[in-house]
Amino acid sequence: MTAINLLGFDLEGLVAFCEGLGEKRFRAVQLFRWIHQRGIADFAQMSDLAKSLREKLAGVAEVQALSVLSEQRSSDGTIKWLFDVGGGNAVESVYIPEDDRATLCISSQAGCAVGCRFCSTGHQGFSRNLSTAEIVAQLWFAEHLLRREGHVRDQSGRVISNVVMMGMGEPLQNYSAVVPALKTFLDDHGYGLSRRRVTVSTSGVVPMIDRLREDCPVALAVSLHAPDDALRDQLVPINRKYPIADLLQSCKQYLSAAPRDFITFEYCMLDGVNDSVDQARALVDLLRGKVPCKLNLIPFNPFPESGLKRSPRERVQAFADVLIQAGIVTTVRKTRGDDIDAACGQLAGEVKDRTRAQERMTRAPVVVHRPTRRIS
Ligand code: SF4
Repeated sequence: MTAINLLGFDLEGLVAFCEGLGEKRFRAVQLFRWIHQRGIADFAQMSDLAKSLREKLAGVAEVQALSVLSEQRSSDGTIKWLFDVGGGNAVESVYIPEDDRATLCISSQAGCAVGCRFCSTGHQGFSRNLSTAEIVAQLWFAEHLLRREGHVRDQSGRVISNVVMMGMGEPLQNYSAVVPALKTFLDDHGYGLSRRRVTVSTSGVVPMIDRLREDCPVALAVSLHAPDDALRDQLVPINRKYPIADLLQSCKQYLSAAPRDFITFEYCMLDGVNDSVDQARALVDLLRGKVPCKLNLIPFNPFPESGLKRSPRERVQAFADVLIQAGIVTTVRKTRGDDIDAACGQLAGEVKDRTRAQERMTRAPVVVHRPTRRIS
């Protein structure tokens, strides 16, 4: 019989599993705490569980981590892990320590079907969805490894204060696995993170944004990357299905349940493609007064197959100035871990180039549509 990986259960799932073994709810809570709060995988070490339960668990269940293919540590403290998820597939997680927080960026899929032009993962094509256990295993591994290494940041004893689902994959295209993972991150008996400190980043899967608002509203980041449909259709192909107007409407509704009173829009700055002052003005036109938001401008991480270049620093600044002067809170993301790797997804892509997506995407040029409207 295949052992069930208990990392795949949120608390309610584990309660149901334990009840199936004839155990009461409080036993599931104890087990959940051993696994997630203390990082224990060996049932024999769970000393306040009855010996009979420990033996029962050992026969049917396991706490199975992902195997690490590689680990890279940057001089700025950033750590990047490449995990083996079988079948020649690999996914990445990145730990980013800062003065006031420590963020883990995790993956939700092996590869990605959305195919954003500027994304190394998108160029690799889609392989498969990760299970809940494989998603949770990334935090479980990083949190407990870093604790053992003494990276503890506060009195709670925790290391990782924020989780962003911004690694490989489109989380909202793996919804049924992602939601129990989010619930485990938030659970007081699990990692106890507040909803403000857990962020789902989406390319704009509108129906699933609406469902997330009902099921597990955490902070939301949306990959925008263009001020108009013509350009966004090319950069973020899912825009052809869910155009900007529908996306913004869904974002606005999301705020009724969201833990923050704004949506973060991500905007990857691509030289000569989406980074002109006119396009910044079009963005202001699009967003100002429509959706409470914050803009996060991201320096593009070049990779050879993309055919795209990073915007020069002065152009990023000029773009940011237009947004800031219009009253839109705007940040420029610092590049981190530059000495350990380039674009997100690149390491995994070296493990396996699954499809001909790379070839397909590299051939198609980005046709730049220049918006003509200006704000006064
Ligand atoms: S940016 Fe996100 S949604 Fe787009 S291809 Fe990359 S992983 Fe997929």
